Amino acid sequence: MDLGIAGKRALVCASSKGLGLGCAQALAAAGVDLVMNARGEQALEAAAREIRDAHGVAVETVACDVTSAEGQSQLLGAAGEVDILVTNAGGPPPGLWSDWDRDDFIAALDANMLTPIALMRVLLPGMMARGWGRVVNITSQSVRAPIPVLGLSNAARTGLTGYVAGTARQVAPSGVTINNLLPGIHATDRADALDGGVAEQKGISLDEARAERQATIPARRYGQAEEFGAACAFLCSRHAGFIVGQNILLDGGATNLTM
Ligand code: NAP
Repeated sequence: MDLGIAGKRALVCASSKGLGLGCAQALAAAGVDLVMNARGEQALEAAAREIRDAHGVAVETVACDVTSAEGQSQLLGAAGEVDILVTNAGGPPPGLWSDWDRDDFIAALDANMLTPIALMRVLLPGMMARGWGRVVNITSQSVRAPIPVLGLSNAARTGLTGYVAGTARQVAPSGVTINNLLPGIHATDRADALDGGVAEQKGISLDEARAERQATIPARRYGQAEEFGAACAFLCSRHAGFIVGQNILLDGGATNLTM
C-alpha cells in the first residue's frame, strides 16, 4: 500500500533503538525525511546512517535528552516545521507504590506526560496552519490495564491519554490527527531490563523469565519493533485521517478486554 506520505518530514523522538527506531524505519520506508533523536550519539548516528543507506531519505540527528527543557529546545530548533511527530522517551523504573516520592512522580510526569505535551504545543500550530499533520504518542498497555510494578508509568501515561483525548478533537478540524500506540511487551532493551528485574527477583534466568511472560500472551511471543513501526506509519499515512484520538493496543492479545 502506498502510504501517501513520501516527502513529508517527521520528528521521531527517542529513536536510536527499540520502538522509536521501528517507527523511524517504517516512516523512512514510506519516503518520509526524518529528524531522529536519542541521548547517546553513537547509536543514533549508526541508526541514521543505516536508514539513509536503506531508504535514501534525508535524516538529521539531534543527540539530546528529550525530557529536559534544553533538549526540547535543541530538538525543536533543529526540527523546524514537521508534518509528523512521534513522541517517545524511556519509561520510568519499576517498583512498589510505597517506593516513590514527589520527585519520582515529577520525573515520570516530565518524561512521559509533559514532554509529549510540550512538543505538541509547539508543533501543532504549524500542522494546523498547513492543514495536515499526524501525531503518534508511544504510551503503554498500562493505560488500558494497570501494571502494578509500573505505577509511575501508569500514572504519567494516563495523564497524557486524558490530554490527548480532548486535544485530538480540537485539532481534527484542521486536518491534524493525534493518536496513541499502546505497546504490550516488545523485544527491545526495555523488555530485557524488565525481564532482568523479574529474573533477579525470582532467582531464575532471563530466558526463564521471558518464557514465563510469553506464556501469558495469547500470541505466545513478544512483539517486534518492525511491526510496531508499521502500525505507526499507517497512523501517519494519508489513509488514517479519520482515526482521531484513539488508543491502539499492540500487545498480542495480552490485555484481556472485550473492547
Ligand atoms: P528501548 O529499547 O530502551 O529504547 C529506548 C530509546 O529511547 C533509545 O533509542 C534511547 O536512546 C532513547 N531514549 C531513552 N530515553 C531518552 C531520552 N530521555 N531522550 C532521548 N532519547 C531517549 O525502549 P523501547 O522498548 O523502545 O520503549 C520505548 C517506550 O515504550 C518506553 O517509554 C517504554 O517504557 C515504552 N514501552 C515499551 C514496552 C516494551 O515492551 N518494549 C512496553 C510498553 C511500553 P538513549 O538511551 O541513547 O537516549
